[in-house]
Amino acid sequence: ETPLLEVNHLKTYIPTSKGEIKPVDDVSFTIAKGEIVALVGESGSGKSVSSLSIMRLNAGAIKYRPDSSILFAGRDLLKLKEKELRKIRGNDIAMIFQDPMSALNPVHPIGRQIAEAILLHKKVSPKEAQKTALELLNKVGIPDAQRRLKDYPHQLSGGMRQRAMIAIALACNPKLLIADEPTTALDVTIQSQILNLLRDLQKEFGISILLITHDLGVVAETADRVLVMYCGKIVEEGNVEDIFAHPQHPYTKGLMVSIPSLSGPSKETLDAIPGVVPNPLELPQGCNFVTRCGSAMAKCHEAAPELEQHPSGNRVSCWLHTSGKGDDEDDREATA
Ligand code: SF4
Ligand code: MG
Repeated sequence: ETPLLEVNHLKTYIPTSKGEIKPVDDVSFTIAKGEIVALVGESGSGKSVSSLSIMRLNAGAIKYRPDSSILFAGRDLLKLKEKELRKIRGNDIAMIFQDPMSALNPVHPIGRQIAEAILLHKKVSPKEAQKTALELLNKVGIPDAQRRLKDYPHQLSGGMRQRAMIAIALACNPKLLIADEPTTALDVTIQSQILNLLRDLQKEFGISILLITHDLGVVAETADRVLVMYCGKIVEEGNVEDIFAHPQHPYTKGLMVSIPSLSGPSKETLDAIPGVVPNPLELPQGCNFVTRCGSAMAKCHEAAPELEQHPSGNRVSCWLHTSGKGDDEDDREATA
């Protein structure tokens, strides 16, 4: 079966006065119908730019390299005109963000905002739209929905606002939902509830979800498949079970130790990945992770590893695991 979304060699480059930066540099992945794929990495890894590229919402200066393509239900989104894109956005592809306040209109009740989203995409009467809005509020688990229809965004809690955003996203029966850090601003209990809701929606409607997060804890709870991103590239990819059972890339292992819910916020947790994401204008030579990696070898400073299939089932981009590995095995740097 052809995947719902197929991202091929996506290269999103941004010219700056100091040179070109490459927030997304040759990223390829697919999302099947009904699949939840998590895109994980620290801030600055390129995950948000990737999702904005899929929506073609990046600012004007951004350039997509000509060999990039983003096939959605067989059509290349990078080749569509703005008018055609508008039909797809909020219709076939919907998006929710970390801060629903920025996307909700503060001066309209949420019932009206959901009904407007419905009317924008479906030929129904305003009365039917109101009825559907109520159903959606029930569906996303907002208690006392009839009364809540008349509430303004500021009258809702953070969790309820995110539920309202999800209701708006669902208003047009999207095939793909892009959720960019949807629970980052919420406390842990509410976070779990929202993630459960996403899971339920995936089950009930067969929606595909691209879940963007810096938190592997969120991934463990929600995703089917995981893409780990660092400095604009996917460094590891695999099924959620495989990624958690046997992570291969040193960066994935570091993220794993950093899951606060698994290890508690200890000193060790904070030091799990020493250093910071490099400045995109000054990427190191060789592997992008070389400045922070405890397993770096001489070869890592020379050439960038490719993403390759590993016996674990994961795909990994690391010289420790690539076919050319033997050459430098005695060459490990002392890092202790
Ligand atoms: Fe570390 Fe080298 Fe693997 Fe990069 S290629 S992650 S520096 S061991
Ligand atoms: Mg982001």
